[in-house]
Amino acid sequence: MAWTIPNLLLHDKPLPLSEQRAFGHTKIFVYCSNPGCHQNALIDASGFPDEITFNELQLRMVCTVCDHRGADVRTAWHER
Ligand SMILES: [Zn+2]
Repeated sequence: MAWTIPNLLLHDKPLPLSEQRAFGHTKIFVYCSNPGCHQNALIDASGFPDEITFNELQLRMVCTVCDHRGADVRTAWHER
């Protein structure tokens, strides 16, 4: 498939962590979705299961600052 990387940037389908691992990326960038908080963090996702998807991670993340459940989760493309 010629457009693999652009497809990874879209959250229109369940995307397992194993996809980003195939590119050598183990870290994810998490951004609190509470509009009054916007805490963000770089997390090492290498301990998470291969089959967990970004959609699931977004629902499960709990902010350590404001206790908000739900966050924007992306591949940290600039980190290895
Ligand atoms: Zn927060």
